[in-house]
Amino acid sequence: MTRTVKTQVAIIGAGPSGLLLGQLLHNAGIDTVIVERQDPDYVLGRIRAGVLEQGLVELLREAGVGARMDREGLVHDGFELAFDGRCAHIDLKGLTGGKTVMIYGQTEVTRDLMEARAHCGAQTFYSASNVQPHELQGEQPYLTFEHDGETLRLDCDYIAGCDGFHGVARQSIPAGVLKEFERVYPFGWLGILADTPPVADELIYANHERGFALCSMRSPTRTRYYVQVGAEEKVEDWSDERFWNELKSRLPAEVAARLVTGPSIEKSIAPLRSFVVEPMQYGRLFLLGDAAHIVPPTGAKGLNLAASDVSTLYRILLKVYREGRSDLLEQYSAICLRRIWKAERFSWWMTSLLHRFPDTDAFSQRMQQTELDYFVGSEAGRRTIAENYVGLPYEPIE
Ligand SMILES: Cc1cc2nc3c(=O)[nH]c(=O)nc-3n(C[C@H](O)[C@H](O)[C@H](O)COP(=O)(O)OP(=O)(O)OC[C@H]3O[C@@H](n4cnc5c(N)ncnc54)[C@H](O)[C@@H]3O)c2cc1C
Repeated sequence: MTRTVKTQVAIIGAGPSGLLLGQLLHNAGIDTVIVERQDPDYVLGRIRAGVLEQGLVELLREAGVGARMDREGLVHDGFELAFDGRCAHIDLKGLTGGKTVMIYGQTEVTRDLMEARAHCGAQTFYSASNVQPHELQGEQPYLTFEHDGETLRLDCDYIAGCDGFHGVARQSIPAGVLKEFERVYPFGWLGILADTPPVADELIYANHERGFALCSMRSPTRTRYYVQVGAEEKVEDWSDERFWNELKSRLPAEVAARLVTGPSIEKSIAPLRSFVVEPMQYGRLFLLGDAAHIVPPTGAKGLNLAASDVSTLYRILLKVYREGRSDLLEQYSAICLRRIWKAERFSWWMTSLLHRFPDTDAFSQRMQQTELDYFVGSEAGRRTIAENYVGLPYEPIE
């Protein structure tokens, strides 16, 4: 026996893309049902992004979930680029006419969105298995899935594929429709989370001949630090002591001297990849966030790109339901991709500039240092870094 449920927009995945789209649409009176493979604790246990562009900050406020972020998040006016034994400051606020970024963990964003969804009574099926989209080219698409021993069919007008890189949405599009663009980098980031005070008030991105390092934070008492490691490295081979020593060796001496170390509370290695599919839609299925694109985290863009896809689809669906503008649906992919490719470019550029590659020799190392020196020494150079880091504007939907 299959039980049938109806909604206007069926959302696959309760990560930040799915939950944020669901909240915005719910507030606008458009019914959504979210179907998620994992349970809520698993979703909340994933330690990921932490730098929110102004566009995402404003979107969270618009969704009515910005209060705790505004109370507890840290507004950063700039960041540091470390190379050749020194730090150079990028004044985001001064260079972009007042724009800043917010430091607030993806886990906290997800928690706020989950609480808002539970509070407003919108339906979410957690721990759903065998989720399958159907009839994507027709006018009545639907999902089937299993939940609590029951088989369900979810009828809808549109399906939002917010199910990440390994999800089912992209895979359900017939072979030959999508074109994939990919670069896999020959290294990863070993990250640790620790309850120690941040070494600086702002993030420090370091280029060093031993490899890249990043000093980041989640709060005034919780830090997130990373070092570049080889793609074959195993987290078990990295004791806390080995991690701290490696991090210190890649930072300018005066920064390393004031670094406070402590036991890690999470330690993991993330591979680095650039990936985009074109187009991001197929019939009534729309791909959002990591389901359609991945960036290496060097530009802090992954979560922020997911947010701009959400904003685009949300504003299009508003016009579809309120003004009958179904012509806009066809523009979704092209609008998203224009911004995505620019963020892919910035993330690739930052990655190329700051990491050590297998073929990085003494000449390439000098070229990286000289490019950094040139960019930070020129106001035009600093401005181009700053305007990309705070996030390029969202395209209006007209
Ligand atoms: C280890 C790691 C570290 C990262 N660090 C950073 C960072 O420092 N800065 C940054 O900007 N970005 C970072 N990112 C990227 C950022 O976290 C993602 O861009 C962001 O999570 C995208 O959100 P999303 O909702 O599109 O996808 P996800 O967060 O992946 O959510 C997708 C959801 O769909 C669910 N799902 C998957 N398959 C199915 C299915 N078949 N059926 C139902 N549900 C399904 C998943 O369980 C998940 O809950 C990191 C990513 C990873 C993996």
